Amino acid sequence: MAKAAEKKAKVSRPRPKLDEKELKAACAELRKKYPHVIPNTLQNAEAGEGPHSNKRTVEIKCQHPGCKEKRRVATSDLAQVKFCEEHTRLARLERRRAARKEKSEAKKKAKSKRKPK
Ligand SMILES: [Zn+2]
Repeated sequence: MAKAAEKKAKVSRPRPKLDEKELKAACAELRKKYPHVIPNTLQNAEAGEGPHSNKRTVEIKCQHPGCKEKRRVATSDLAQVKFCEEHTRLARLERRRAARKEKSEAKKKAKSKRKPK
């Protein structure tokens, strides 16, 4: 536990604050890589508590068809987060269900192989 905390402390050195113009430019830059980022929503890292403390954050638009939810995420999470919280949860459930199905089907196949009768 102590080791993990040390490692984290090293990584989370404060990022330099950007002025408004720089934020806009950086946000546009992010949008090239992550099109679901909403323009001009990049914010400087804020000290304090919460999941996004000391991280730059940006708003994304949920990529679920028909969903208009927005969500503020850390820029470091952009590669993973594409949905609002609700749809992230649903996508995770769906993935698990698919994985379970695959597993049980593999089991069935293995069984039928073992007993050729
Ligand atoms: Zn959504």
